[in-house]
Amino acid sequence: MNEKLKLHEPLKRYFGFDSFKMNQEAIIESLLEGHNVFVLMPTGGGKSLCYQLPSLIMDGTAIVISPLIALMKNQVDAIRHTSEDDGIAHFINSSLAKSAIDTVKADIISGRTKLLYVAPESLTKEENVEFLRSIKISFYAIDEAHCISEWGHDFRPEYRNIRPIINEIGNAPVIALTATATDKVRTDIKKNLGILDAMEYKSSFNRPNLYYEIRPKTQEIDKDIIKYIKQHPGKSGIIYCLSRKKVEELAEVLRTNDIKAEAYHAGMDSATRSKTQDDFLMEKIDVIVATIAFGMGIDKPDVRFVIHYDIPKSLEGYYQETGRAGRDGGEGNCIAFYSYKDLQKLEKFMEGKPVAEQDIGRQLLKETAAYAESSVCRRKSLLHYFGETYPQDACGNCDNCLNPKKQVEAKNYLCNVIEVILATKENFRDDYIKDVLVGRATDEVCAHKHNDIEEFGCGDDVNDKIWFAVIRQAQIAGYIEKDVDNYGVLKVTPAGHKFLKKPTSFQIVEDRDFDEEEEAVLMQSGAACAVDPALYQMLSDLRKRMSKDLDVPPYVIFQDASLEAMATIYPQNIDELQNIPGVGAGKAKRYGAKFCQLIKQHCEENEIERPEDLRIRTVANKSKIKVSIIHSIDRKVALDDIAVAKGIEFDELLDEIEAIVYSGTKINIDYFIEDIMDEDHVSDIYLYFKESETDDLDDALEEMGSDYTEEEIRLVRIKFISEMAN
Ligand code: ADP
Ligand code: MG
Repeated sequence: MNEKLKLHEPLKRYFGFDSFKMNQEAIIESLLEGHNVFVLMPTGGGKSLCYQLPSLIMDGTAIVISPLIALMKNQVDAIRHTSEDDGIAHFINSSLAKSAIDTVKADIISGRTKLLYVAPESLTKEENVEFLRSIKISFYAIDEAHCISEWGHDFRPEYRNIRPIINEIGNAPVIALTATATDKVRTDIKKNLGILDAMEYKSSFNRPNLYYEIRPKTQEIDKDIIKYIKQHPGKSGIIYCLSRKKVEELAEVLRTNDIKAEAYHAGMDSATRSKTQDDFLMEKIDVIVATIAFGMGIDKPDVRFVIHYDIPKSLEGYYQETGRAGRDGGEGNCIAFYSYKDLQKLEKFMEGKPVAEQDIGRQLLKETAAYAESSVCRRKSLLHYFGETYPQDACGNCDNCLNPKKQVEAKNYLCNVIEVILATKENFRDDYIKDVLVGRATDEVCAHKHNDIEEFGCGDDVNDKIWFAVIRQAQIAGYIEKDVDNYGVLKVTPAGHKFLKKPTSFQIVEDRDFDEEEEAVLMQSGAACAVDPALYQMLSDLRKRMSKDLDVPPYVIFQDASLEAMATIYPQNIDELQNIPGVGAGKAKRYGAKFCQLIKQHCEENEIERPEDLRIRTVANKSKIKVSIIHSIDRKVALDDIAVAKGIEFDELLDEIEAIVYSGTKINIDYFIEDIMDEDHVSDIYLYFKESETDDLDDALEEMGSDYTEEEIRLVRIKFISEMAN
């Protein structure tokens, strides 16, 4: 049997697959030949199979080191499906009881177990090491190997001890696997694991079906997101936020706007989390709002969008997270919201950390910011970051390619940059190079006496922003590069030296200016808020006609403020109408149809593009107190007691109750009115409102103020509105 068939047979038998994905086959062959192997394969590429398959056909047990206890069980379950023997795969971690560990050990000794998943912290336990020394190990697999490097996006200190422990247990080939690694991280991993000789298999990171876009983050972000989701109904998506609090808030806002969304973060108990995860897989939930804790190991092929609410801390994290979209090769929209303020906030958070960590964190952040602000093709930038050359100038599937910026000639600027890097002995980062270029005599520059060199200030005719754009785009073009060992320090490549000798055309695009865009967006939405006077008039006329027909005052139908809002955002069905302030479900159903029809007709006749397709319903903090007031009234608690219990003044309580009845909820406060007011007085006031053109309080006071108190008038007005309108 030839080599090829040898591996295809178990692939089919154990996994049911007909062919290998990416370079799985070559990787497995290398491992079988006894080499150390380094695998770089994008998320969803099929890394697990690279160690699972060989473990099944090799002698002994493979040790798989994997960071997440929660995922271990899933992986073990999955591999058990491939066999009739549950003993084929096990895991050891801190969640296992002593008796369970004994079973695991017995299965390993009897030779049934081909794969043993171990959490790195369990690997350091002396008793485990002792046991593992006594068995035959086929090889070690280090999954999510980027956890080894501080420059990766998920550094775990216990990952750094793996080599010494392997030495203690007994040597065997090592296979390290990760989906995200810059050159820096890759070098770190290989050094730390002592596998500098590893055969390296790198699949292209390019995911042609993913669309990348960066949007300015404004006040309107929630609305932007809701709009996006509503335009993609029924599609699965993930929204990443940096804080648990934001995760919960946003999930709530989405639910309030009738989007099936749930929160997911590490602070939730594991039962809730796995239910949420299952519901997402089963499509009972469309959108998951999560911190980065969500998604590792989730294999939902048809996630259609990944939104970053906050700018991610590193491009590694960003890439990993966006990678969860469109695994099936179909649509995958990756939208990140960026604002300079967020960046500053993140920097601020870092201040408490050790200096070395801060430095790393800042540099990673800077890469993210540079990516966001760049006008270069996103795909090209990302692939460059991961050490891959994208041969085309434009991918046609990112915001920058779809809205290209004009290119400008930067031949001379590039010469300046290269000259300054060389003149300062290739020892500095971009900030420093830029300071020398513009001639800024900072303490550091003076300390190195670089304010004395001829090149100092040679580029003072342009600003910092341009210099950053030149420096960054020169890296993508391969004229300069960042040093791997001394991260961030700029070096001139052979191509750069050649360029300096004989400069050719070098075109760049200026970075995007997010501050300006932010303002522009805000202005746009501000302008959209003007009331449509013609429509307002028509709505108001309709209200008048209805009020006559129904024999109720106009304001009982809808208040003016509600009509104004309608003439601003053009709701066209009952659902949308409920987003209007002062319009609850009851009112919308009772009176809404004719209004919606009128608005719709008006929009069609005048070809009005609705400025905001929808208005988001905010989660009113007050809604809790309102609900509680309604409950108390149902139980016939005296209103003054309710006010005391809620810690508010009586007139504030009346404000709340008025808001409740005006938005269409029926409540009955007769028990209280009867208690404190004379029956005749009540009907007197009631009659006034029935006959009056307006519900205005001042008018009512003028008419009846000498006989009744403001509170009495308001109480009866509440009774009246509630009975008439609802
Ligand atoms: P990674 O760890 O690289 O993110 P996984 O190992 O979880 O990816 O695999 C992703 C998906 O690809 C899984 O559903 C797996 O079953 C599937 N897969 C792996 N190898 C193959 C193959 N050769 N043919 C078809 N599907 C495969
Ligand atoms: Mg994996």
